[in-house]
Amino acid sequence: MEYVLATGNAHKVGEIMKSVVLLGSSVRFLSATDFGGMPEVEEVGATLEENARLKARALWEKLGGKRAVCADDTGLFVDALGGAPGIRTARYAGTGLAKDNIEKLLWALEGVPAAMRTAQFRCVLLTLDESGCENVFTGVFAGKIAEKAAGCGGFGYDPVFVPNGYSQSVAELPEDLKNRISHRALAVKALCRYSEAARR
Ligand code: IMP
Repeated sequence: MEYVLATGNAHKVGEIMKSVVLLGSSVRFLSATDFGGMPEVEEVGATLEENARLKARALWEKLGGKRAVCADDTGLFVDALGGAPGIRTARYAGTGLAKDNIEKLLWALEGVPAAMRTAQFRCVLLTLDESGCENVFTGVFAGKIAEKAAGCGGFGYDPVFVPNGYSQSVAELPEDLKNRISHRALAVKALCRYSEAARR
């Protein structure tokens, strides 16, 4: 089974492909870059799933329904902030820049004690096959928001996200580890298991 990834985010593409290798799965992911790029999509959905559907549909239509596609939409849900930034994770600070988002998040949590800094990354992978039939796979990665940024691996909020069971941020952990345990890795695992079973 082969999916074209409905994203222009090279980090997401790289992580998804590495997770598949670590799983030893036969499912293949291709980059939208190899198909003329990802069309511009306004992410106006009210949920991660709705936004993933908008991205998947846009690429599926661009490819004339000739290819199966897969879109990723991810959000960071911070308990002490009532689930914010949630679906606004990408543009939390308004600029779309990771360093601004991190700065705003640390400011919003100033004075909040460690035990109350719990958060989850949620990833939705939504696939459309060649006939337009949809499937949704999710992955949840639980942890805490650190008091300051650390590390230079990964992307986005990784420097301030400390997974449960670890004392370092995702940006300080080995890349292979993130690609085994993250929200995205778990959603990829569910998708690969489903696609492999469906072919049997
Ligand atoms: P979207 O799914 O492209 O809308 O991304 C939502 C936001 O979540 C972006 O700001 C990303 O930087 C952030 N994000 C998505 N996945 C990760 C991740 O694995 N680690 C840290 N931040 C992430």
